[in-house]
Amino acid sequence: MYLLLIITAICLFFFFLWFAIVSVFEKEKSAAGRAFILALSFPTPYLILALVTFPGSGWLGWFLLGCTLLVLIVLLFPFPGKRIIGNETPRTRYDERQTMFSRDEVRQYDGLQKQFYKENPDKFNLDKQWLDKPGLMDASSTMYSPITFIAADASFHTIEQLRDYVDGDVASIQKVFDPTQLTRFLKAWTKKMGAVSVGVCKMQDTHYYSVRGRGKAYGKEVVTSHKFGIALTVEMDKDWLATGPAGPTLMESARQYLNSGVVAIQIAKFIRELGYEARAHIDGNYEVICPVVARDAGLGEIGRMGLLMTPQLGPRVRIAVVTTNIPLEVTERIPDHTVHDFCAICKKCADVCPSQAVPKTEVGFFDGVQRWQVDHEKCFGYWCTVGTDCGRCMSVCPYSHPDNLLHNLVRWGIKNNWLFRRIALKMDDFFYGRKPKPAKIPAWMKRKRFKENSIPFVHPTT
Ligand code: SF4
Ligand code: SF4
Repeated sequence: MYLLLIITAICLFFFFLWFAIVSVFEKEKSAAGRAFILALSFPTPYLILALVTFPGSGWLGWFLLGCTLLVLIVLLFPFPGKRIIGNETPRTRYDERQTMFSRDEVRQYDGLQKQFYKENPDKFNLDKQWLDKPGLMDASSTMYSPITFIAADASFHTIEQLRDYVDGDVASIQKVFDPTQLTRFLKAWTKKMGAVSVGVCKMQDTHYYSVRGRGKAYGKEVVTSHKFGIALTVEMDKDWLATGPAGPTLMESARQYLNSGVVAIQIAKFIRELGYEARAHIDGNYEVICPVVARDAGLGEIGRMGLLMTPQLGPRVRIAVVTTNIPLEVTERIPDHTVHDFCAICKKCADVCPSQAVPKTEVGFFDGVQRWQVDHEKCFGYWCTVGTDCGRCMSVCPYSHPDNLLHNLVRWGIKNNWLFRRIALKMDDFFYGRKPKPAKIPAWMKRKRFKENSIPFVHPTT
């Protein structure tokens, strides 16, 4: 028994020490400090009972070991709990003109804007809360910093240049490949190009917008011609995202929209060269609702904040999609209802959201789909005030921790056991805080390091 007590104490000590060391590398100072304190305190009762003899110490030792074993069995026993989300397929297709990005874009076109509000008078009252605010990346927004905003704008500008390359001519001779082998090739190549996950689904009508709402295609009906959708995700940097709503989070959004788009454009081009139709769906030029395609391609579930929650990185990803007619092998989707159960109890994103846009309520029904619905106008109103896309909700999500052994063990427990989920949530609050503060901006991009002098540019030849 004494040996068992000492072994348990050593295991506990090294587990929490490991947690502390990992947290130091993750720049989570408070988690590191707390884990270190636990490394010293948790093993203490085991050591006392192993090394000090007093009346009843033997019984107490067995009792402590028994309790430890019982807790382990209860927490590790497979018990996923019940499903809380029913129907996931909407009754109708969504009109892209209803999205906040489209409603923001039509601000530049007085006629279109008037027409939109004439057809959607209910939206006008909702949009009043952001229409008079500075706007995304505006110099008068509260988080404006020239360095980070202009850097983000450079990435967004590059994506804009790529929007015309999402589609193109199809080679006149079709090459025929085994769908399984081709899918394997595409998945491996996509990951080599920087994606963290990739999957294939059969396209459904409701994956496509009904009408386009962005750019030159505004108002055009979307033709649902492609049979397959290849969804891919790229990782968003945790440290930059954690600074949200400050400028680096915007830089990271732009960078990963660009990276995911570049990968998707190459895949689409490759498939067209094989003689089949293919179109990339990238920032500002979508015909599909990416998170839903990605979910049905087996890449994750849609959580409380309405984003794709991936198994490795939670919502800390950007998505791009390629739709095509080339025969591919569909990725089997294994729905994971434990994500919804965790979201039902967690609500951390709702607690930190500065605009209270994330609901704290139970799942509701929207167009026949059981899900949570973010208040998009409130969220966008906050973006238009701060000038960035905020990202606080993504950053604090317990699923957003890095993809490493420590956090993957916790993710495994969350998926495996109903009680583990509840304890993991309390532990996440304990180690990382219920409402963690935004992280500091990296020194190399701090505003005060840059002295600004605005000098009008005069071309040398003039
Ligand atoms: S923060 Fe919590 S409630 Fe929000 S999406 Fe993540 S797990 Fe779900
Ligand atoms: S991005 Fe910010 S404002 Fe929008 S829902 Fe998330 S936390 Fe709230």
